[in-house]
Amino acid sequence: MALETESRTDVLTATDVSAGRLTALADRVDCDGTETIDVRAPATDTSIGEVPDCGEADVERAVDRAREAQSSWAETAVDERREIFDRFGDLVLQHRAELLDILQLETGKSRRHAVEEVLDVAMTCSYYADRGDSALGEDRRQGVFPLATTARVTYEPVGVVGAISPWNYPLTLSLTDVLPALIAGNAVVLKPDEKTPYTALALADLLERAGLPEGCFEIVTGRGATVGPALIDRVDYVSFTGSTETGRLVAEQAGRNLIGCSLELGGKNPLLVLDDADIEEAARGAVQACFANAGQLCLAAERIYVADSIAEEFREAFVAATRELTLGTGFDFEDDVGSLIDGDQLERVERHVEDARERGATVLTGGERRPDVGPFCYEPTILTDLEPDATAACEETFGPVVAVESVPNVATAIRKANDTEYGLNASVWTGNRKRGVAVAREIDCGTVCVNDAYISGWAAVDAPMGGFGDSGLGRRHGPEGIRRYLESRTIATSRIGPLDAPPGVPTAWYARGMFALTRLQRRLPTVASVKRRLRDAGL
Ligand code: NAD
Repeated sequence: MALETESRTDVLTATDVSAGRLTALADRVDCDGTETIDVRAPATDTSIGEVPDCGEADVERAVDRAREAQSSWAETAVDERREIFDRFGDLVLQHRAELLDILQLETGKSRRHAVEEVLDVAMTCSYYADRGDSALGEDRRQGVFPLATTARVTYEPVGVVGAISPWNYPLTLSLTDVLPALIAGNAVVLKPDEKTPYTALALADLLERAGLPEGCFEIVTGRGATVGPALIDRVDYVSFTGSTETGRLVAEQAGRNLIGCSLELGGKNPLLVLDDADIEEAARGAVQACFANAGQLCLAAERIYVADSIAEEFREAFVAATRELTLGTGFDFEDDVGSLIDGDQLERVERHVEDARERGATVLTGGERRPDVGPFCYEPTILTDLEPDATAACEETFGPVVAVESVPNVATAIRKANDTEYGLNASVWTGNRKRGVAVAREIDCGTVCVNDAYISGWAAVDAPMGGFGDSGLGRRHGPEGIRRYLESRTIATSRIGPLDAPPGVPTAWYARGMFALTRLQRRLPTVASVKRRLRDAGL
């Protein structure tokens, strides 16, 4: 259901969020200047409010506040921190209606896809509140001379983490990386995308209500090109999610500053339909994989490789299921696919489809913008016979466009799936899960979902998530998602004084003794080798 033309003048009337509430959220940002950024609702391309356009001095103050708060936050007992995030998870669920409205207002996404974000934040919160401390404890490691020496590792928060997030999943992608950083005892300064600042500000409001001390979570709204570099120059670690192009700039700056960074970047994700797949199920899965969030999802599939023997049947089922999708900008659960974020994104999608058409591709369904539904709405589009050098074949479209290609065998499907600089997510459909796992092992991606589009990989919060190649560096989720925000410190002790030649022992004798000892030590079984032998013996 599209909004009526009349209500387009004031999209806020379609929700329970008032202009006053958005102004109050924007007032949370500490900014010296008077410049603002207009925030627009993609559903109607009308303004919903303004947020401060922060400059370098504002970033500096935010980081200073965070740094001051961080030292006492790091001293706070882990159990106390955990309670705050438990309360925060509850508050997110209690305030879901407002969060869904704000998400829809500033992204134009359908409500069903906004729901995924709220659920994800609550789940990530439970995971890190429950398991975060296991990554924070102290580890005992093997000393150089067992009994004579010891080694233990302690973990300290890195300090102030800078988080930079994109517009496509502003709730999930702000919090997924912020929560583990906070639980680890860091303070965080978040720079949300300029198109979607209100979701992040609403989260800051809920974190404060949950009891997070002032200064631990700061938000700076502003332009990527000014606030981003200013932030990276002042923090101790940067967690970035966005395009590969910007990710390279972030990595360069982090490299110059010698700070750690994790980069969650773009993808050109493949979906493989093997010859034994359940065709209806694979078609439903492909619809979700390609058109969730109008394809503006880093994990979305943009290339489908289907076995020759079932290609025609699959194409028919996929096209039919896609035609059933409803396109709309309503604030209820009626619509399957929402709007694109803005005119630039619409232009990019149109350019990819036009280029494909000019090079002889066939549009099986979709292929048109839909101004009658919303100013930036575009139909879910399936292409076939796409030339390998077409823009839509080589570049990330980040929209509701997918190309289907039939392949003679699994080896070809795998080769084509891996023929890209990216490596974020893949999906494999088969009647035999074991075969699916074997194929998954051959695909160069950070996550591969068998008989699922992307949710089983993303929502397995205990498992790492990230990209190979141009899709990024580092991993979020799981213990890896928290360890990146910690500095390790090895503390080693010796019971026998300095590990050097004792007084009066000639160096040559000492060296001979050390070689003999090292030879002996190499022959003695280690704990790891005993475990390996027991495992090999099936014990
Ligand atoms: P983008 O790189 O343009 O912007 C992302 C963020 O970076 C924004 O907050 C922006 O303001 C900021 N930014 C811009 N210039 C900057 C600079 N010079 N220094 C520091 N920060 C700067 O990304 P986008 O095009 O808005 O987002 C879409 C892209 O993000 C797609 O490529 C998509 O695949 C990718 N993405 C990846 C993931 C993932 O988890 N791998 C998730 C979502 C989106």
